[in-house]
Amino acid sequence: MTPVERALRQLIALEGPQSLERVMGMANAHYYATRDPFGPAGDFMTSPEISQMFGEMLGVWVLSVWEAMGCSSQVRLVELGPGRGTLMKDVLRAAKVLPGFLKSVSVHLVETSPVLRRAQEQNLTNGAAHVSWHDHADEVPAGPVIVLANEFFDALPVKHYLKGDDGWHERVIALENNAFVFGLARGCVPDSLIPARFHGAETGQWVEFSPQGTRIMDDIAQRIARYGGAALIIDYGHEHSRCGETLQAVRQHQHSPVLERLGEGDLSAHVDFQALGEAAQKAGTDRFALLTQAALLNTLGLPARYAALAKAATTAQKPALDSAVERLTDTTHPTAMGQLFKALCVTQPNLFKGGLS
Ligand code: SAH
Repeated sequence: MTPVERALRQLIALEGPQSLERVMGMANAHYYATRDPFGPAGDFMTSPEISQMFGEMLGVWVLSVWEAMGCSSQVRLVELGPGRGTLMKDVLRAAKVLPGFLKSVSVHLVETSPVLRRAQEQNLTNGAAHVSWHDHADEVPAGPVIVLANEFFDALPVKHYLKGDDGWHERVIALENNAFVFGLARGCVPDSLIPARFHGAETGQWVEFSPQGTRIMDDIAQRIARYGGAALIIDYGHEHSRCGETLQAVRQHQHSPVLERLGEGDLSAHVDFQALGEAAQKAGTDRFALLTQAALLNTLGLPARYAALAKAATTAQKPALDSAVERLTDTTHPTAMGQLFKALCVTQPNLFKGGLS
């Protein structure tokens, strides 16, 4: 039995079936707190771990935001869920081209996992910038912010509700014959607890949403609207909210049943970019059209960076470089990273032209 399973059994014995949101929160907190899950030997691979070019291109975006902000002297560079710290390391290296930037910036990492905090510390100890850590996004000190988040929002707990004849029932996890099973809360919740965009759902349909994700987006967007700055959120997900659920567990690069070995696999759900975009706009930021990861990286200059690295690469290094570009920007099928991953950019009002109204 895993530690999460043991804790969940106790909770169910004391309080009855538990909401999926609570179980997903418990499972992922344990999962990330106890391991470094990235890379071939781990459970999954993320873009910054595929190639330094990913972080370098995000560095280009960070610098363009900073310049558009008038080279603000007090900016907080925030990363949500920084994993090993690889992305931030590559961003800071790319940012050396504007030496004034590193002097003006303090780095704030929002990370709950002690194991990953240690990895981040090791990756970022060259002293180029002052780094501090926070458990929650709302603990970052007030002021202008430039925020990055790659594969952070997909790890936040989601709620599932089924539309029944009599109203909305929340998905819960119960114990049956000594095994965890999905169930439905007996009572219904009123429409007011379900986001308005799902009110047209039909009987028998599931809806999925992450209150925590919306809260974090709202907090960041309020800071941006009030003090200035921008955020770039990259994740896999859908542009428009839709009914249905996308919860999945991944262990050793394979999908596995969600309720099997809780806390030993990565639980995630597709990000609802409509929900995040609307929360940001409501808080007063400009919001830009969603880009695919491929379009984002190509717009920021990936082809030129690739050409420079390819020129300097040895014959032995070149195939890895080619395959990294291919993986990051492949759009040939819906689940290819360049297509499945999307980027949402929100900024202080009028920072850039072209915001959606
Ligand atoms: N951005 C990294 C890691 C993505 S994995 C990359 O692209 O490689 C998700 C990250 O979010 C991990 O660092 C994990 O520890 C962190 N995380 C997950 N849930 C969190 C939460 N509720 N609060 C803060 N960090 C969280």
